Order: sequence, then structure tokens, then C-alpha cells
Amino acid sequence: MLDLNTTVLEETIDPNNWEELRATGHRMLDDMINYIQQSGDRKVWQPIPAAVKQELNTVAPQGESDLKEVYASFQQNVLPYALGNTHPRFWGWVCGGGSATGMLADMLAGAMNASPSFGEHAANYVEKQVLDWTKEMYGFPKSSSGILTTGASLANILALTTARNFFNAAIRKKGIRNLDGQLVVYASTETHSCLQKAVELLGIGSEHLRKIAVDENYQLRIDLLEEQLKQDKTNGFLPFCIVGNAGTVNTGAIDDLEIIAAIAKREGMWFHIDGAFGAVPKLLPEYTERLKGVELADSLAFDYHKWFYVNYDVGGVLIKNAQAHKEAFEINANYLAHHERGIIAGELNYNHLGIELSRGFRALKVWMILKEQGVEKYRRMVRQNIQQANYLAELVNGNASLQLMAPVPMNIVNFRFYRDGLSNDELNTLNKEILMQLHESGIAAPSFTILKGAYVIRVAITNHRSKAEDFDILVNEVQRLGERILNRN
Ligand SMILES: *Cc1c(COP(=O)(O)O)cnc(C)c1O
Repeated sequence: MLDLNTTVLEETIDPNNWEELRATGHRMLDDMINYIQQSGDRKVWQPIPAAVKQELNTVAPQGESDLKEVYASFQQNVLPYALGNTHPRFWGWVCGGGSATGMLADMLAGAMNASPSFGEHAANYVEKQVLDWTKEMYGFPKSSSGILTTGASLANILALTTARNFFNAAIRKKGIRNLDGQLVVYASTETHSCLQKAVELLGIGSEHLRKIAVDENYQLRIDLLEEQLKQDKTNGFLPFCIVGNAGTVNTGAIDDLEIIAAIAKREGMWFHIDGAFGAVPKLLPEYTERLKGVELADSLAFDYHKWFYVNYDVGGVLIKNAQAHKEAFEINANYLAHHERGIIAGELNYNHLGIELSRGFRALKVWMILKEQGVEKYRRMVRQNIQQANYLAELVNGNASLQLMAPVPMNIVNFRFYRDGLSNDELNTLNKEILMQLHESGIAAPSFTILKGAYVIRVAITNHRSKAEDFDILVNEVQRLGERILNRN
């Protein structure tokens, strides 16, 4: 026996009493299943009281607490003050409602504590299968590459990084100052702000994201794109990427993807599509024509946590040129080098396809929900949401106090309360007040945007819990609030 001097403590953060944990855990599970089942029985949203904010603003806990007490604090200070996006009348921004199965999948992933990155373990293969299914749904070839991300924002960053490094392979080593010109990206004025972030992060500068004006349908104007391209080439700029929208965030407009694809091809440029939610109707035969260009893209950013209703957070990117994807990010560190056998022998290496090393097992919830529901069910759900948008547009058109403010090509409806004799500024103030009161009432939660100077109430339907009656309630409530505010003044 060696005579050792070191005494080693044997603590763990596992529970001392597993039976107690089991009981608390079962209670949490029951409570949360009830919470989801009763999504429609609460107010959509309620303000957070000052006392609760106080509770969420204390110094770091030094000592231990009983899990039951911690859970009680969650129930008291966290759970009641949610964003509201599990409610059937939440249609703000573009938020998914999540699912009970997704919640359970997150528990299973948490138990495994898997990190799909490198190595030979099942989580990597689950992610690959999810990506392969995604390719099938969006018409990308199986040879494409891809990776799941926290959402479309990161997916857009990864796609533009790949496009940039594909344009000039020396950028990784030499940086963009080594180029003999200024990189330029093209996209419409309706493009999501995360693409500007991507361009800024890549050192290209937001000035060099050419925001091309849109037509009356909020689609990128091809004539202006051609003009800008010509001008930039004459002036020695380096155009390398065009971004098309499959569903703009404001109105759900789909750019003329086929024409943009042809221009990108002619110019030797990368064609990227932001399809965060709007590429999803690609599943529907009635959208085949409109979304034909999706499969022509070099890369596609998509989300699962929006119109696939998968619990946050999960989106991803598909990239046709698998080699370009890998070459944009791969670094072979000594401590991660591939071996012939053992844990490090796996061929799947998401570490080489993005910017993160450790990653959550977000593929599991997508995998489980897609298996449970099937693509056919999704076809019905997505179609249902589009029908609801058309139903709401009809309600608006049939109501003399309301105005439809944009075409409804998909699942987004923009409208406002209107009264003859009010100026645009007065209408803007009035509609903003209606929206805030609507949120405060907890009855419904659309969001808003500005379209051609008009403040509009914006309803983005990526909610699998909404029923026709919910839109009747919305319209009645907007009308009631509008009248009430006018009569009070
Ligand atoms: C939501 C959205 C994004 C950003 O996606 P996240 O998943 O929130 O990061 C990008 N583009 C469009 C069109 C979106 O609707």
C-alpha cells in the first residue's frame, strides 16, 4: 500500500434522498402537464409585480436550499409571468406554442446531458436524421450539409460566413482587409434585422448590405437589384451574396426566388434564403409554385421553434455545398483529433460546422415530435394556420371600423382600427393604445409593425392551439377598445 497524504472529499450534487426527488419530480411533471393542458384558461399575459422583480434581483445564493422551496419560488415568481406564447390567442412576432411532447423530450435530453458535437454517440446521429428529414421537406439533396442552431439568427450567420469564406478561401487566414475590394450583400428592405447583424459581425459593415426596395406586395424589386448590382460592379465592389426571403417577418411576403436564383447563378454569387418560418408551407402542394425557388438556394435558414411548434430553442441551416460548409469552420485541434476507434472515432462532427463546441441536444425534441405527428399532420396544421389568416382577413374586410393593411400571402395579417377624419398620426397613436390595452387585458396578444408609415396590429399565426372563435374574440375586442378610447377622448 502507498502511504498517501491527500484526503479526498466525496460530495456530489445528486440528491441525498432520491425518493424525495422522485416525489418532487413527479409533482413537477403533473403540474407542467396541467399547465400546458390549461394553456387557454389563463390570461395571455400579465404584468410582473414589483415584489416579484425584487425576488428576481437578489445576490447569489451561498447556502443550500431544499428543492421543494426552489420549486415553490419558480411557481410563485416565474411561471405566472410568461411571455404568453403557449396561449391560443398569442400571435405576436413569430412565436411557436411548443408542445407537451417537446417538454418531455427536453427532460430526456437533459437526463442524457448529451452534447452533440464530436465523438461516436447517438445524439449526433439523431441530429443527422433530423437534418436529413429537413432536407427532404425543403427539397435539398441528401448530399447537402447542415447543422441545428439556437434559431434562424445564428443559422443566417453561419450561412453568410460560409458564403463569404467560399467567395475567398484566404479570408479565414488573412481577414477581409486582404481583399482587393469591399464585399457586398443584397437583400430587400423587408429582410429580418438578424441579417444586418450577420453582415456586421462578418466585418462587412451594414452599409454594404444593400437594402433593395420592395414593390406593393413587399417583394424585392428585381429591377432595382439589377441596377444596384451593375452599379456596384462598375464601382469595383465585390458582390458575393444575395439573400432572398421565404416569408418576410412583417407580412410573410415571398421574394421572387427563382429569378433571384438565376441572377445569383449568372453573377457567380451565393444565393441564401431566410426561410425562418415562411419556408414551412413548402410542405403544401398549393405552395409548390410559390416556394419553388427554395430548393435552388445554396443555403437555407429555417426554424423549428416557430411554425413547427417545437419548444425553444431550435432552428438550423442547410448548405448544399458540404465541402464549403466544412471549410468555412473546420479547425483540427490536437485534443479533438479523429481516432480510428473509441469515443472519438465518429464521422459526425458538428464542431466543424458551426461556431460552438459544446451544444445542447435540441435535435431530440424535433425528432420525437416529427415521429409522433408525422409530416401529413404538419401539412394539415400549417394549412389550418393559413386558413385562419384568411378567415381573419375576411373578418377585417367585413368590418367597417377595421382596415386590412397588407396582402395576406401566408399566415400574417396586418390591420388597424380606422375612423374617417383622423390623421395618420392620430390613427397611429390610437392603434398603439389599442395594442397596449389588448396586452394589458390579457385577452389576446398580436404584435405590431409599421407599414408605409402606418402603425398596424400584426397577427402572425404559428399557433397550433388557436381556433376560429379566437379570431372573432380578437376582432370584437379591437373594435370595442377602439370605440372606447375614441369616446373617452
Ligand atoms: C424569427 C425570424 C428570424 C430570426 O430567427 P430566430 O429563430 O428568432 O433567431 C429571422 N428571419 C425571419 C424571417 C424571422 O421570422
